Amino acid sequence: MKNVLIKNGMVILEDTQQKKDIRIADSIIKTIDDEIMPEEGEEILDAGGCFIMPGGVDVHTHFDMPADVDLKTSDDFYTGTRAALAGGTTTIIDFAEPDPKGPLMEGLDIWHEKADGRSFCDYSFHMTVPRFDEEMPDQLTEMIKSGIPTFKAYTAYQDSLGVTDAELYRIMQSVKAADGVLCIHCENGDILKCRQADLRKEDAACIKNHALSRPNLVEKEAVSKVVDMAELTGACVYIVHISTKEAMEVVERAKKRGVKVKAETCPHYMYLDDSKYELPGFEGAKYVMSPPLRSKEDMKALVSKLKDGVVDTVATDHCSFNYRGQKERGRNDFTAIPNGIPAVEQRMELMLELAEREEIPLYKIAQLTALNPAKIFGMYPKKGVLRAGSDADIIVVQPDRTHVISKETQYQDVDYTPFEGIVIHSRIQHVFLRGEQAVREGKLIKETPSGEFLYREYLTNR
Ligand SMILES: [Zn+2]
Repeated sequence: MKNVLIKNGMVILEDTQQKKDIRIADSIIKTIDDEIMPEEGEEILDAGGCFIMPGGVDVHTHFDMPADVDLKTSDDFYTGTRAALAGGTTTIIDFAEPDPKGPLMEGLDIWHEKADGRSFCDYSFHMTVPRFDEEMPDQLTEMIKSGIPTFKAYTAYQDSLGVTDAELYRIMQSVKAADGVLCIHCENGDILKCRQADLRKEDAACIKNHALSRPNLVEKEAVSKVVDMAELTGACVYIVHISTKEAMEVVERAKKRGVKVKAETCPHYMYLDDSKYELPGFEGAKYVMSPPLRSKEDMKALVSKLKDGVVDTVATDHCSFNYRGQKERGRNDFTAIPNGIPAVEQRMELMLELAEREEIPLYKIAQLTALNPAKIFGMYPKKGVLRAGSDADIIVVQPDRTHVISKETQYQDVDYTPFEGIVIHSRIQHVFLRGEQAVREGKLIKETPSGEFLYREYLTNR
């Protein structure tokens, strides 16, 4: 691999930006300095007028995920991580889901089979904990020894992967004892099921009923419970895909009183509102995910919480299903529409656009999309930061390169994008993964997968 010298770019550091040169050698960032003189044989990339940022870290994806008998996500690790890389994300963490009654290790083996040798970007997994029994503490320890110190629990979906309050409390105690982090999907599963049943009787084909069955308070109730349990147990919890103003306020108050809680939101909750469920015909199904899209007021509130530090990360919850043949399973029943949307490819550019639109400094965007997730999930400073000694995962962003998001030009293996038509006023021109150039002049040049599994040993710095 050739050494590369990136010159004259505006480099986005942990909490500032400065004009610097960056030397890449042996897969890592060798030097960052005001002016570095080229060495013989070194490739020089002039990044004058561009921003240099750490490669994106998306800690919430679902690739190759079974959702039902004969139904699984349209993106697998090959297509999903290729799309991620094309869009400037160099590391992902996917959610491994074991059989609800089976050993976690079996689930981990299955996820390695799906991902190993087929991933274009670096990757790791969170392990879903679908129950609690007396063997679970040992199984969590076994996971940590396998490089998986982060877990996930669901407060909904009790008939598959979800857990009861008692189980959740025990899982938190065990995760705390093991010094791990517990990611939690927060919606009250019992209440939303009651509401689904009522609304189904009224009008099963109405897509808007998806949102009505899971209103803001269904999320807020679960978030409140979870932060209180975290306070009781002392566990570190990471709340995935927060979609409402109310839930974010609960998190803000909990943070103020010292609860170890981290907050994630997703681009779709800041770009798209619930009027999408009233689109003609079956179009609204393209926007069915859980939690659902919310009001414009919620969108605004989430953006403001990005700025004031309540939100720790922006991840995608990428979980792609084709409109044709997959989403269509729910034509006559809103509860049968597969939940999830594709986004892993567009997250970085959507966040860059938000930075411009909302006047959020780019170092803040780099914190939300790379630095903070790397820190929370035990990958820092190898990942998530531009610093000497870190992996050379680097993106070069050119401002004033207007383009429009379209399904026609995406790498994601899915027949639509919920962000169709959104104008982006910059372009991710170059992407490096561990020093190897994967995207050149906006085109993916990487042809074979060489992503590495990230064995995460310690959860420091969080
Ligand atoms: Zn998810």
